[in-house]
Amino acid sequence: KLTTEGLKTALLKTADQIEKQKDELTDLDREIGDGDHGINMSRGFTAVKKELEDKDSFADLGELSKLVGMTLIKTVGGASGPLFGTVFVKFAGKWNGKSFVEGDELYDGFKEATDGVAARGKSKAGQKTMLDVWEPFTNALKGDEPLETVIEKALADTKELKAEKGRASYFGDASKGLQDPGALCSSILLRQIAEVLN
Ligand code: ADP
Ligand code: MG
Ligand code: MG
Repeated sequence: KLTTEGLKTALLKTADQIEKQKDELTDLDREIGDGDHGINMSRGFTAVKKELEDKDSFADLGELSKLVGMTLIKTVGGASGPLFGTVFVKFAGKWNGKSFVEGDELYDGFKEATDGVAARGKSKAGQKTMLDVWEPFTNALKGDEPLETVIEKALADTKELKAEKGRASYFGDASKGLQDPGALCSSILLRQIAEVLN
């Protein structure tokens, strides 16, 4: 079950964790990108944290997700801004008016978010992007493997792939063996969400 309060907690913890791993995210993007992913996501989640702290409470998951999506789209920039923004805009669409979701409703929100990122990025899992973490995580909501294990494995698996989308694709075969920064950042967020599920 994912509650409005649970998602808010996960987002605040994600903001703190991104701050801790900001340099790591930026360094990864320096290797197969333009060296700004940590900076971009830190800017976005600092803004999200401020918005969440400024508001006493949210009516439902829809209201919370919409604010987060809009804030990320406004502040992150780059390729990742609209992509991470899309995740929350899609959550908002599915979870409008709901103070919590579980079972199929929980899965449907993640499915919509993952498909939304794929549509916006004209990408699919297997191309060494954030989708390589979002898709297995979403599928795992229907399975019984621990989510933490699934995230760990997804991150390890995507490392060996050749980048086919975004700036990393310019690095071709040289991208093999390096971690995609957006995949790592997604794992930070999804770990925090997995932790508040009950
Ligand atoms: P930019 O590449 O514009 O500098 P960021 O560095 O903030 O943006 O984000 C890069 C991350 O965005 C990548 O690590 C990857 O996970 C994700 N990404 C980029 N392009 C796509 C795409 N077309 N589909 C899915 N994810 C993508
Ligand atoms: Mg970048
Ligand atoms: Mg950039």
